[in-house]
Amino acid sequence: MPRPLLATVHHAALRHNLARVRQAAPEARVWAVVKANAYGHGIERVFEALRGADGFALLELDEAERLRALGWRGPILLLEGVFEPRDLETCSRLNLWHAVHCDEQIDWLAMHKTHQPHRVFLKLNSGMNRLGFAPGRYRAAYARLAALPQVEEISHATHFADADGARGIALQQAVFTQATQGLPGERTLCNSAALLRHAGDASSDWVRPGIALYGSSPDYPAHSASDWGLQPAMSLTSRLIGVTHVQAGERVGYGGLFTAQGPMRVGVVACGYADGYPREAPTGTPVLVEGVRTRTLGRVSMDMLAVDLTPVPQAAFGSPVTLWGQGLSIDEVAHAAGTVGYVLMSALAPRVPAVADEG
Ligand SMILES: *Cc1c(COP(=O)(O)O)cnc(C)c1O
Repeated sequence: MPRPLLATVHHAALRHNLARVRQAAPEARVWAVVKANAYGHGIERVFEALRGADGFALLELDEAERLRALGWRGPILLLEGVFEPRDLETCSRLNLWHAVHCDEQIDWLAMHKTHQPHRVFLKLNSGMNRLGFAPGRYRAAYARLAALPQVEEISHATHFADADGARGIALQQAVFTQATQGLPGERTLCNSAALLRHAGDASSDWVRPGIALYGSSPDYPAHSASDWGLQPAMSLTSRLIGVTHVQAGERVGYGGLFTAQGPMRVGVVACGYADGYPREAPTGTPVLVEGVRTRTLGRVSMDMLAVDLTPVPQAAFGSPVTLWGQGLSIDEVAHAAGTVGYVLMSALAPRVPAVADEG
C-alpha cells in the first residue's frame, strides 16, 4: 500500500470558482492564472476544469508548452514576458502573448526576425515598484513598440500592490488611467483581491485571478473563502499511521514542545514538512480527524505530525485525516502557521501523489 497521503484536485470547485470570478466582473474576459504549476495543483490536473476561461496566464515557457500540448489553442500570456531573445521564437511558434516591462525586451523585439507579429502587454509600474515602465517613460515605450513591424497589437497592464489591504487600488488606478489616456489597446489590471474587492471600480478588458480560482481568500482573515463564495480546489488528506497514549507531563515530538496536562491519546499522521505541510505550524493548528476538528500537537516532523485525539474518541489506526481542503480552509491552516494559502498550495511537494476528482 502506498503511503497514505494524497492531494485531490476538485474540478467542481474550480468550475464554481471560475463562475464566481466571472460574476464579479461580468464584462471582462478572464485569464486563469496557472503559474507555479497552477499554484501547486498541476496544470494538467486543472486544465479541463478551467478551459472555460478566456486565456491562461503564466510565467514559464515550458508551462506554456504544456498547455499547448493539452490542446489549448486560445490566448496564453507570459506575465513576466520573455527572459532572453530566443524566447521570442518560442512565442512565435506557440503564439504566446507576452508582457513587456523593460527596455531590454523592446530591444530584443526590435532585433527579432519574425514572420508572425507579436501581441504584447505593455506593463506600467503604477506604484508597486516591481516590474514595469515608470509613468513618465510609458508613452515613449509605447511609441517604440508601435513603430516595430514585429509588434501587431499592444495592450496595457498594471498590477496592484494593495488590492487586499486598506490602501486599496484608487491611487494606482488613477496613475494607470492617466498614463494610458488616449492610447488604443485593451487593458488588464485586477488580480483576485482587486477583482473581488474593487471590480466595480476597476473595469477592464481582462482580469487576472489566480488564488480565487483555487478557492483561497486573497484577503484572509478580513474575508474567508466562503465569505467570497469560493470553494477549496485542493484537499490534502492522509490517515493515522499510529496512535499513542501519553500521561500527564509526557512530551510529544522533537523538542518536546507539547506537554500533556493529563492522560490523552495522540494520533500520528503521515504528513510532514517534506510534503509541504508548514513546519512553522504550532500546537493548535486546526486539522480534521474522522471529519472532526481537532489540533496538531508539538513540532511538525519531516514525514509526520501529531494530533490531539481527545475530541475524536472513535479515532483509531487508519482514521482519515484532512490537513486542508474540503471541511478545513487552507487559509486557516496557513494563518495558524504565520503564512498564506498561496504558500501552502504552491509548496505542495512533488512526492505527494495527486489526483483530479472530475465530478
Ligand atoms: C500572480 C499574478 C496574478 C494573480 O494573482 P492572485 O493574487 O493569485 O489573484 C495576477 N497578475 C500578475 C501579474 C501576477 O503575477
